[in-house]
Amino acid sequence: MPAGPGRLRLTVLGCSNAIPYPDAAASGFLVEYAETTILLDAGQGVAIRLADIVDPRQMAGIVIGHMHADHFFDLVGVRYLFPWAGGVSPRLPVHLPPGGRPRLAELASAISERPGFFDAAYDVDEYDPDEALSVGPLTLRFAPARHYVPAYAVSIQAPDGARLVYLGDTGPSDTMTEFARGADLLLVEATLRDAADDDAERGHLTASEAIDLARDAEVGAARLVHYPPDRHAELEALCASAGTWIAPATPGLRLSVSDAGIAGAVGPAA
Ligand SMILES: [Zn+2]
Ligand SMILES: [Zn+2]
Repeated sequence: MPAGPGRLRLTVLGCSNAIPYPDAAASGFLVEYAETTILLDAGQGVAIRLADIVDPRQMAGIVIGHMHADHFFDLVGVRYLFPWAGGVSPRLPVHLPPGGRPRLAELASAISERPGFFDAAYDVDEYDPDEALSVGPLTLRFAPARHYVPAYAVSIQAPDGARLVYLGDTGPSDTMTEFARGADLLLVEATLRDAADDDAERGHLTASEAIDLARDAEVGAARLVHYPPDRHAELEALCASAGTWIAPATPGLRLSVSDAGIAGAVGPAA
């Protein structure tokens, strides 16, 4: 089936890890369904790619999975896409994890640009990870990941049942496997070269662990994210040996969520 405008679609704005690389933004994923557009995470480099695709004033919201810089720092950059005079009506809803509001306030204070740096553009709240969140026709759910700070995986389900799950940063976790179970498309991180590179208390995955998690969760399709671009060929080979349902994501990739395991990319980002 063609990727019609009413179907759940993903555009990868950035899928690199925290280390800056040329032409590779950190985490940022645009999710669209009909007239509703959500930005999942806003790592460094995401704002410039977002501006190339959508007017952020037309978005339905931004959702941040956890408050590490490579997942939220470009809330600053996106804010500069809004006017300073007169404010914005309505303001863009920004949904942070519990404890996120004071962190964002600290960031605004550190920038010292002007009082209320974010306030005229963003309507900031903290989601309750135990409750579903409705954004337009989309239903978002959350689950706690295994990370060094409180971090939440996000599930986005469309009215037609199509479901995208983005785990964010996480170590191996049965909770994450169950949360991802049966998703049409899973975004799973592949940060580590070796599990021995992680802290004693795990907070990231190797590509092999990511593939295993996705296979155990019996997802329709999966894309590896949060990896340095110079490892793309290595991860591509690893995924190829696992099957056509999984591959490393690349910046600019566009997918129809329910067709991701069959049709693959529907074309480059506009
Ligand atoms: Zn993190
Ligand atoms: Zn990260």
